[in-house]
Amino acid sequence: MSQKLDSIFRKVLISVGEDPEREGLLDTPKRAAKAMQYLCHGYQTNLEEVVNGALFASDNDEMVMVKDVELYSLCEHHLLPFIGKAHVAYIPTGKVLGLSKVARIVDMYARRLQIQENLTRQIAEAVQQVTSAAGVAVVIEAKHMCMMMRGVEKQNSVMSTSVMLGAFRESSNTRQEFLQLIGRKS
Ligand SMILES: [Zn+2]
Repeated sequence: MSQKLDSIFRKVLISVGEDPEREGLLDTPKRAAKAMQYLCHGYQTNLEEVVNGALFASDNDEMVMVKDVELYSLCEHHLLPFIGKAHVAYIPTGKVLGLSKVARIVDMYARRLQIQENLTRQIAEAVQQVTSAAGVAVVIEAKHMCMMMRGVEKQNSVMSTSVMLGAFRESSNTRQEFLQLIGRKS
């Protein structure tokens, strides 16, 4: 597969008007193929593998929050990066997730071709599924290279998406508490 991707990137170089034989580009198809595979490695794993049993019994029923999870993804419309942060919270009902696992879940879905809205929902539903939480909230704030480098060329716009499930949807107090904790008062 990587061999084939190499030859596709070689064609891309020719298509944009480059000479793939010039010195600086000789290894570029191979490197680009490797990079692309890395940026899409989320397809090579699944939720069960990522969580890997790291669920622990707990009688804590207060909000658990992981803030500022770095996020690197590729938009499915232009194959250009979008980069930002995810904030994830849930209200446990007997089980809590290992600390690093929230970040791993974010990464698994981010390292696929995405639109930000779907990414936000997939993370929320995955956390809901593995923890059986009473509620899950996910907010993603990201800058999209496809807006910054092309098209409208808006350098400073940050796109914000959120998905609220269960208690975060039903109770405005719970939702407000979460939004305050991530520094958004509204
Ligand atoms: Zn795009």
